[in-house]
Amino acid sequence: MPSDNQTSHASTPDDMRNRVKYIRRLDQVEQLSAQQRDRLGPVASRYVFRANDYYLGLIDWDDPEDPIRQLIIPREEELLEWGSLDASNEESVTVARGVQHKYTDTVLLLCNEVCGAYCRYCFRKRLFMDENDEVTNDVSEGLRYVADHPEVTNVLLTGGDPLLMSTRRLVEIFEALRAIPHVRIIRLGSKMPAFDPYRVLNDPELQAAFRAYSTPQQRIYLMAHFDHPRELTDLAIRGLDACIRNGVICVNQCPLIKGINDDPYVLSEMYSTLSYIGCTPYYLFQGRPTAGNKPYELPIVEGWKIFQHALMLGSGLARRARYCMSHETGKVEIMSIDDEHMYLRYHQAKFDDDVGRFLICRRDDDAYWLDQLEVVSRVPAHV
Ligand code: SF4
Repeated sequence: MPSDNQTSHASTPDDMRNRVKYIRRLDQVEQLSAQQRDRLGPVASRYVFRANDYYLGLIDWDDPEDPIRQLIIPREEELLEWGSLDASNEESVTVARGVQHKYTDTVLLLCNEVCGAYCRYCFRKRLFMDENDEVTNDVSEGLRYVADHPEVTNVLLTGGDPLLMSTRRLVEIFEALRAIPHVRIIRLGSKMPAFDPYRVLNDPELQAAFRAYSTPQQRIYLMAHFDHPRELTDLAIRGLDACIRNGVICVNQCPLIKGINDDPYVLSEMYSTLSYIGCTPYYLFQGRPTAGNKPYELPIVEGWKIFQHALMLGSGLARRARYCMSHETGKVEIMSIDDEHMYLRYHQAKFDDDVGRFLICRRDDDAYWLDQLEVVSRVPAHV
């Protein structure tokens, strides 16, 4: 690790005492009745369950519709027929095991197959299945790929959650990436600040690594994942503050999820709080048609209305999110909708010719995904 002459922002002794306890079985959730556990057992067998005592403690168990509960407790409707396990065909952009290269400047390293808890609506739930081998903790092939591709300026560590890896391992990866001159931004795609704020607060070595490898010229970005304002507890805000004070730039991206944040006032409250604490909204994703996700999905038109309403309620810094579909062909932003048409634009594209391309589609209030829309005009970007 490079020498660290900057001021230390280590944790307090109070933080050091706190550790969350992880559980993987529904029968460990004592707030669920035996009958509920029996009913949900087959769902958890199909799509794995994991949670921890800190996050379960945010649930109001008197409210069966509680959004935090919806986020991690399985629902029977997950077994309804819906979508596919790899809805954005990530396989087609996989260039080596655990390495995805879809957009010219950014490579994804899927370096961990575990998360702090499992979001029920996860679009990568296939990674948590026993038979899956798309993830590798050994990133050496990914690092070689990145080193051989000078156009790659951003590397996203994802999975699963990279902050569940040991600090020693993360430091090795940071060090290896910083040895590749063309990699300027290291992104950490993580929901740990929501699931377990102690992960950063308890770890002065991780904080020191942030200071060492997030430099004025080349930052580490935390792509945080908060879905609901109730996740932004005082502890979570302190966890984010520990990232920011140690040189990490924080932004937030999350999907629009039925039953969790599909309310403009909820979304706007979260966006406003995120803007106050220095973790501005980046993307709001339309849910991918992923197997198991039927109960969590909303049609695009409905989602766009919620998003637009939420944006009208906040200040400029709370309005920075873009509402996008992470489609197989690119990140398609939903820009506007009128009585007849939907106006979309490729914010990022798999094929360079599509970058900035504008799509005019016939309005369809029942469509959930780009593939269901009738495109009436494709306007290339004129540069
Ligand atoms: S944190 Fe991300 S990868 Fe992990 S379960 Fe949630 S949505 Fe999926």
